[in-house]
Parts: sequence; structure tokens; C-alpha cells
Amino acid sequence: MKTVIMGAGAMGGLFGALLTLSGEETWLVTPRKDHIDKIKSEGLTLEEQGKIYKINVNITNDVTSIGKADLVLIFVKTYQTEKAVADSLSVEKDETVFLSLQNGIGNEEVICKYVDRKKVLLGVTNHGATLLGPGHIFHAGWGQTHIGELDGRITERALRISKMFQKAGIITEVSDSIYDLIWEKLLINVGINALTALTGLKNGQLLDYPETLRLMELLVNEALEIARAKGIKIEGNPFDKVKKVAEATRENRSSMGQDFDYRRRTEIDSINGAIVREAEKLRIPVPCNRIITDLIKVIERRFYQSQ
Ligand code: NAD
Repeated sequence: MKTVIMGAGAMGGLFGALLTLSGEETWLVTPRKDHIDKIKSEGLTLEEQGKIYKINVNITNDVTSIGKADLVLIFVKTYQTEKAVADSLSVEKDETVFLSLQNGIGNEEVICKYVDRKKVLLGVTNHGATLLGPGHIFHAGWGQTHIGELDGRITERALRISKMFQKAGIITEVSDSIYDLIWEKLLINVGINALTALTGLKNGQLLDYPETLRLMELLVNEALEIARAKGIKIEGNPFDKVKKVAEATRENRSSMGQDFDYRRRTEIDSINGAIVREAEKLRIPVPCNRIITDLIKVIERRFYQSQ
């Protein structure tokens, strides 16, 4: 399947490298000239498990030069989705599928402003990657990837994408309840990300203070109430799961923590901010998520003002 990946950052670079290595025609698209220059001159550098690979991947800032594609994989930060999808439209043909494996919720609504809903698939991935520099990706974590149709049908096209991912070493399953899996991951991000950003703590350190533990529980339970009100099925005890993930990733700074460290914009609007938006529609109070979202947004704004 000819695949265009919008965003050549940590995850776009990782998927681009793995798909290219498996022999699939794959194109990375990014506005960043430093990435393009580095990758064109030296190849994409993929670091994993103590080894370094240099991979010749196709990369461009001119989507129109690619022609039509079978799959558009959206791997920009969630606040960059609208522009990335609008930019990608020249590759669209009748059968093109647009797949988002981004974190958080609300991505589908943004994509559907530009693309027929029937062409959109969603997913979650438990791979983790970090961008170490232009064209230099560190593959930090492995895990399952799930993709699914919005209406839960197990379709040929979803199976085809899953097969292509599998061939590239990306363990993938097609799910008949993709929203449940997206919310399951969302609850983890709701409990960990903003708290690490605000406190400067590593993921695991959130478990070491009664105050952060209490806040984590409040954030997750508010989000759980919203999930249940929306008919989302959440298995097990989500607060226990969040604690498990925080422990398993004890030494990591969450992506939002890293965004704060580098004074970058965060994905708060798709995580705790999305809980606040959904709660407003349902008229359910979520005071803790609202306060945390407001705090993150004020601090973020000060980053832009000081730049
Ligand atoms: P990133 O910031 O490393 O990469 C995003 C890239 O998109 C940047 O290089 C940026 O220049 C580029 N970009 C911005 N606007 C663009 C446009 N219009 N067209 C093309 N490219 C554009 O981000 P990331 O860590 O790869 O995360 C991408 C998404 O995947 C996020 O939603 C994130 O939450 C999710 N995710 C990340 C991880 C991870 O471990 N990094 C894991 C799972 C999910």
C-alpha cells in the first residue's frame, strides 16, 4: 500500500522507517527543512536496543509531488492535525484511507472537516519513540497497535493495513470497539501527563507523593464518569491501570512533561481539555480536570509570550 505519513517526528519517523524497511512505498511529509536535509543526506537514523540503523526513506515537504496514495497516516501533534490533513488532500483518491494513531480524543472530528467520515479509521499504538534530533529517532518502547473502523465493522481495508503493519514488525490487531481502546489509553494520559508537566516529576514519582496520587485518582475518576456516560466500555479498574503504567514507566517523563521541559505547546486540549469539553456537553462537573487544564494552558501561553 502506498502510504503517506503526515509528520516526520518521533512516531512518523518510526513508522516510516519500519514500513520502508518492509518494502512498502512510504513517504514522510514534514515542513521541517532540517529533517529533510538530514534524511536526504544521511538517511533516517533509527536507534533501538543499542543498535543504530540508517534507513533511506522518501521524504518531502511537497505533498503534491507524491501523487495519489492508498493510506494517509496522521502522526502530527493533535493541535497540528487540521493543517496536516488539509495539506494532505492532494494524495486523496476514492479508496484512500486516513488513519490517526494520535493520542487523545477529538482527532476524528478535525479530520472529518476535510475528509468523508467513511474514509477515516482510528487507532492506538503502544509504541513509544523520541526525536533526538533532525532525522534521528529513538525507539523507546514496544507494544500492541490497534486500528478500527468508526462503526466497528471488521473490513478488508482495515485487515489490509493491519497486515502491512505486521509485515513491518508493528504488531497490530483490528478492533471492533476502537473507541473503548482510545478511551482506555486516554484515561492513562489523563492521570499522568498533565501532573508530570505541572510538578516536574517523572511518571513513577507521581506514586511517591500522597498529593499527586490523590490528584491522579480524582482526574481519572472524573474522566471515567464521562466515559461511562458516553457508553464507553472500560474494563477493570482504570486508576489501578494508571498506577501500573506510572510504575512501569517510572524513569520516563511523559510527553507533556517533555513539552513543558522544552517550553513547547502541549496536547492538553485532546487529553484533560477534551474531558472538560465532553463533560460540558453532558453537564457533568469535572472540576479537577478543568483546573489542571486551565493551569497548563496559562503556563503554555507564557511560553509563547516569552519567545
Ligand atoms: P513529534 O512532535 O515528534 O512529530 C510531529 C511532527 O509533525 C513534527 O516533526 C512536526 O514538524 C510535523 N508537522 C507539523 N505540522 C505538519 C504538517 N502540516 N504536515 C506535516 N508534518 C507536520 O510528535 P510525536 O511524538 O511523533 O507524536 C505524534 C502523535 O502521536 C501525537 O498525537 C502523540 O500523542 C502520538 N503518540 C506519540 C507517541 C510517542 O511515543 N512519541 C506514542 C503514541 C502516540
